[in-house]
Amino acid sequence: MLRSVFRCFQQNSVAGQRNMSQSSLSGKVAIVTASTEGIGLAAAQSLGKRGAHVVVSSRRQTNVDKAVALLQSQNIQVTGTTCHVGVREDREKLVQMTLEKLGGIDILVSNAAVNPFFGNILESTEDVWDKVLSVNVKAPFLLTKLVAPHMENRGGGNVVFVSSVAGYQPITGLGPYNVSKTALLGLTQALAPELAQSNIRVNCVAPGLIKTRFSSELWKNEALMDQFQKQLSIKRIGEPQEVGEVIAFLCSDQASYITGETITITGGMGCRL
Ligand code: NAP
Repeated sequence: MLRSVFRCFQQNSVAGQRNMSQSSLSGKVAIVTASTEGIGLAAAQSLGKRGAHVVVSSRRQTNVDKAVALLQSQNIQVTGTTCHVGVREDREKLVQMTLEKLGGIDILVSNAAVNPFFGNILESTEDVWDKVLSVNVKAPFLLTKLVAPHMENRGGGNVVFVSSVAGYQPITGLGPYNVSKTALLGLTQALAPELAQSNIRVNCVAPGLIKTRFSSELWKNEALMDQFQKQLSIKRIGEPQEVGEVIAFLCSDQASYITGETITITGGMGCRL
């Protein structure tokens, strides 16, 4: 009896160790775009906590400095730089700086997005579409194209795009943004089979309403929130860490058989079967 209890304990602790090592990202280098606050910062924290060296960036140096200081105070290995993902020179600088300082790239979390328009979709202008598609769709693709050869040099890697529930179920008034987020679902599926040949997995997350500055117009409006909560199974707004953890899971060996997939993180808001 005692021996079988001991054997069971041993097996559990071996399984525990295996899970720990599968979730570990020790030695990995992770670029996370738009990572000085909100979901990007949370993703950097989740990846960093698992041992990855994270490269944080956004458009403003002061925001980068703040995020770097915060992550350092949490004992996370971090490097920071500015990068507006819609600017080619900035994307190239981000990748080049990472290679020079850290010697390679294993993970890309493409998180940046803009929404410069609210209204009827037929009133959206060509400039709005150019901006939304450039930042939300083209930049994730072009960054992936830039990092893929370096991931291949390391024997493989992971790309995670940040889409939205709006990619499945358009939010009224956010026409071009909705479409850009749907495009990321397609981009995930288009890239996954090609990059699988280089042992690179490509996945996506689709958050629902998460408490960040980006969504503050929604969650600060009590009437809207009352209406919104009716659609949720979990009757609260999501926290950025709840998205960050799923991103880190997708980048770990625990998700080694997942590619071309989008995970919704919505508190049960129905957006697809
Ligand atoms: P957030 O908290 O407002 O943070 C935005 C971050 O993006 C900041 O670090 C900002 O820093 C940076 N940024 C903005 N434009 C950029 C650009 N062109 N290039 C590089 N960095 C840029 O936003 P969030 O809610 O975490 O949103 C992150 C992602 O989640 C977006 O893709 C969004 O569509 C998606 N999402 C959010 C929600 C939600 O409810 N919050 C729901 C679904 C999907 P600087 O100002 O210094 O550039």
